[in-house]
Amino acid sequence: MHKHHSALGLATASVKASSGLDIAKRRPVQPVTLVRPHAARRAARFFVEKFKGRSLYAVKANPSPELIALLWESGITHFDVASIAEVKLVAAAAPEATLCFMHPVKAEEAIREAYADYGVRTFSLDSIEELEKIMRATNDATDLTLCVRLRVPSDHAKLSLAAKFGAAPEDSKELLFAARQAADALGICFHVGSQAMSPQAYVQAMGRVRDAIVAAAVTVDVIDVGGGFPSVYPGMEPGRLESYFNAIEDAFEALPISYSAELWAEPGRALCAEYSSLVVRVERRRGDQLYINDGAYGALFDAAHIAWRFPVTLLRDEELSTRKMAFSFYGPTCDDMDHMAGPFMLPADIGVGDYIEIGMLGAYGSAMRTGFNGFTAGETVMVGDEPMASLYVEADAKREIGSNVVKL
Ligand SMILES: *Cc1c(COP(=O)(O)O)cnc(C)c1O
Repeated sequence: MHKHHSALGLATASVKASSGLDIAKRRPVQPVTLVRPHAARRAARFFVEKFKGRSLYAVKANPSPELIALLWESGITHFDVASIAEVKLVAAAAPEATLCFMHPVKAEEAIREAYADYGVRTFSLDSIEELEKIMRATNDATDLTLCVRLRVPSDHAKLSLAAKFGAAPEDSKELLFAARQAADALGICFHVGSQAMSPQAYVQAMGRVRDAIVAAAVTVDVIDVGGGFPSVYPGMEPGRLESYFNAIEDAFEALPISYSAELWAEPGRALCAEYSSLVVRVERRRGDQLYINDGAYGALFDAAHIAWRFPVTLLRDEELSTRKMAFSFYGPTCDDMDHMAGPFMLPADIGVGDYIEIGMLGAYGSAMRTGFNGFTAGETVMVGDEPMASLYVEADAKREIGSNVVKL
């Protein structure tokens, strides 16, 4: 990775314009990923200091080794991994980290390798078959933390995770009972869906947890409220994260569990959304459609497939027009589906050769990238300016999302 502290003038007051300045000079042909380590550190510290429990980073949101290492340095000691490749990735990037294998459907070989070679002791499951698989793969280990994943509603989330995983209420009693027999520590976990727009999502899920504990009459050692903590995007401005933490802690305190039970969370998006953005170039304009050099098969999967809106800023040395209009984007591949509806509000005179920064792409951005049609990632550049939006910065320090031109 290239560091651009001096080239970007990061020591000067005009940090905001620095990435644009560099772009104007270098005119990159491929999309450039801008990473902001300070933003990820700030998010990690926020969770470490304010969430009264343990925060596991959900690696799938952004598996960059640099990010994993800096989260570790910032106090995130536990990582939620979902595949043996993620186990190996975190073991290499943060060798002392504790790994929790939280995919409810795993390959038996992956469980065996994780347990025997990487010291993984925490596994999630949502069926008796998976419990049997874990016990076989670990030779009936007696040092396991087994987290039973419950199915909970995704009513408050922008992205549902309610269909695929999680034991249904009618199955949870038997499963909790069986897991209790096998486990050293028994946990209950769930996922309210990604980008939960209200703390009520967790309160509702904790109601399900209570019902399951009462029905099974088991002692529970860990309550893991999963991911779903939101970030900020156009049209999706959640309340303060503290209100989520408070609602979760209140619900946790009210559960029929032992005094020593632990509270865990698995934030993905909230820890890394602000970590990176993307600089793309306009290759063609057709009316209100901009053909840019990254798209659905690159870092903009969510913009294309679930019409996620990301903040955009035109990077140009001169502001020719301040009138903004709504644009949609086409990505670089030859596929019609490589289309992002937006709307993306940009100055009306934008044209070929202009560069756009697309913000808040640290979560589920580069993680989704493919090499389809030969379009791959360009370079990654470290910058020190603020992300386009933040849940962690007080209002006066924020970059103005409303101003769509960064002046050089
Ligand atoms: C994806 C995932 C997360 C992270 O979810 P976010 O919405 O990004 O916070 C946490 N836990 C599990 C099991 C997941 O699959």
